[in-house]
Amino acid sequence: MDKKEYEKPLILKVQPQMANKFGNGTSCAGKPRKNIDGVSIDHLTSQYGSPLFVFSESTLRRRFKEISAAFSTRYPNVTFGWSYKTNYLSAVCAILHREGAIAEVVSEMEYRKANELGISGENIIFNGPHKSPEFLRYAVTDGALINIDHFDELYDLENLAEELGEPIKVGLRLNMDTGIYPQWSRFGLNLESGQAEEAVKRMADKGNLILRGLHCHQGTYILDPEAYGRQVEKMVQFAYRVEDRFGFKIDYLDIGGGFPSHSKLKGTYHSPDLIVPDIDKYAEAVGSALYRELRPGDFPRLILECGRAMVDDAGYLITGILASKRLADGRKAYIADAGINLLYTSFWYAYNLELDREVQGTDEPSIIYGPLCMNIDVLHESAMLPPLERGTRLILSPVGAYNVTQWLQFIQYRPNVVLVAEDGSVDIIREAEDLSDILNRERLPQRLKPASSIRPSSRSALESFIRPGSANFTYAPQIPAVAMN
Ligand SMILES: *Cc1c(COP(=O)(O)O)cnc(C)c1O
Repeated sequence: MDKKEYEKPLILKVQPQMANKFGNGTSCAGKPRKNIDGVSIDHLTSQYGSPLFVFSESTLRRRFKEISAAFSTRYPNVTFGWSYKTNYLSAVCAILHREGAIAEVVSEMEYRKANELGISGENIIFNGPHKSPEFLRYAVTDGALINIDHFDELYDLENLAEELGEPIKVGLRLNMDTGIYPQWSRFGLNLESGQAEEAVKRMADKGNLILRGLHCHQGTYILDPEAYGRQVEKMVQFAYRVEDRFGFKIDYLDIGGGFPSHSKLKGTYHSPDLIVPDIDKYAEAVGSALYRELRPGDFPRLILECGRAMVDDAGYLITGILASKRLADGRKAYIADAGINLLYTSFWYAYNLELDREVQGTDEPSIIYGPLCMNIDVLHESAMLPPLERGTRLILSPVGAYNVTQWLQFIQYRPNVVLVAEDGSVDIIREAEDLSDILNRERLPQRLKPASSIRPSSRSALESFIRPGSANFTYAPQIPAVAMN
């Protein structure tokens, strides 16, 4: 019989707020994760380093097909606009464009990125509160679907129409009460107060803007499908009101995004699997509101701008444990090689954690810090983890939404991002940064330049200096003092 390994006894304070009848907060209990879509975690990190973002092409395509089918089987005229800000890695956008999505952008940068991917104006929805008059001119001549956010933008477009000598077709972003609070009233024009109608009246009076679409993105991670039913009802009623009063025929209803993904919002009691409604519930609410409200024979184009629901599940972050600690209050703590610099959304979401191996020992509530020298750098406040050795890898998911766009180049370089294709091949879709990425945009005034910088021969000495474990782990005296400051 095998001798059992000795396990240090451990006394844990009961933490009543952590337990609920569905489990103990975030736990790694269950099978370890050895691979992502069949590609081993070991292979991924040995080839591409750690930390590492990994995207699954099959999950991304599957999510697109699921969401698209949910709506297209209920309504005949559906278009998806991929929300670039959710994840504008070219490979991710290109996959979604190939699946049939057009682009939804909220800045000049995102707009140009869509152009780079071969998407031209008629397939670009241009949203957002900041569209410079200069860039608006470009977007208008490119034929984009522009959803006006505020009156000043409306005036800019009127001026542009005057200058171009022809009317411009536009959409209008609305905000409204759909029962979701706090209400996002900062974007678009308000429906209930009459502000939106005032804008339409102005367009009709002036005559050089032609209203052809309505837009509303009511918020994000919206757990109540009926909120979309109420939104669609109000949008259709408003569309008929402006048609009857001002003669504008609305040919698209853009209902935005906001469907939740399976990430766990902090502070929610239940797991996402229990509280996140299926996408069919949203499609049902939208479809039935359309059929209830639309006049017979009317099928305006329904546009959706799903972001997180489309991409979140396709993203993983592999992070390695660098060290462990016992805090003064007795809590177990780990330092991981990824922190809030890479997972900006960890302020709001508690990720699912998986280990790359079986680990013996008792789970205890553990805090996971990132590598930054910043107190706020906490990846997880309280994960139930067995004792982890250095080098153990954690796989965090879902992290495909809003992380590789909001990540920070702060203290650390940003790592490789890879895509696992449906045939199991792996491509780097964004290379890890190095010092040149930091220095390229900096300009050091002549008078501050060092007499000499460190030449490659001494740089290798520097590298062995900073890489513990290498044979000559010593201070390299040839580094000029100025470079160390
Ligand atoms: C961010 C955004 C989206 C995507 O939102 P999700 O909640 O990720 O689905 C869609 N439309 C607009 C206008 C947005 O700003």
